[in-house]
Amino acid sequence: MPKMIPLKSWVCDSCHQLVGINDGWLEWLSPQDSGPHSYRICHNRAKCQKHTNAYDRADMHIREFLEADGLQSFLSNLDIGPLLDPDQKYMPHLPDMRSFVEAVRRLQIPFYEEARLYFDKAIDDGYFADQNEVGVFLPQTCKAIIAGYE
Ligand SMILES: [Zn+2]
Repeated sequence: MPKMIPLKSWVCDSCHQLVGINDGWLEWLSPQDSGPHSYRICHNRAKCQKHTNAYDRADMHIREFLEADGLQSFLSNLDIGPLLDPDQKYMPHLPDMRSFVEAVRRLQIPFYEEARLYFDKAIDDGYFADQNEVGVFLPQTCKAIIAGYE
């Protein structure tokens, strides 16, 4: 696999080839009666998109979820905020928080996307034994995992 560039290249969840800002896509399912789930990063092409035929499909170009604007896009899924919903009447339910948070980490934390390729090896080596829930995915932790396992 070619060298990954933090926050500019990702691994497509379908074809497992690199996907970049120009051809990247985030898709998920968003049924009215529950909440968004099954987030996936993939190429913006039919053969890599898996939710294409789902009635509750939602998707957007990956660039919409990068940097501060992208973080705000993600956060609006958790809470649209006090200006538009002062009484918290529309707090969404996220039935698949793990998938949501994984998408946020992949698109917001530098080095996370490449480091996740080595997480299994690092776990086997006990790499995370001394890490707390914050330190485990900090950019410097991810960068060290890449340096140690690539
Ligand atoms: Zn793909």
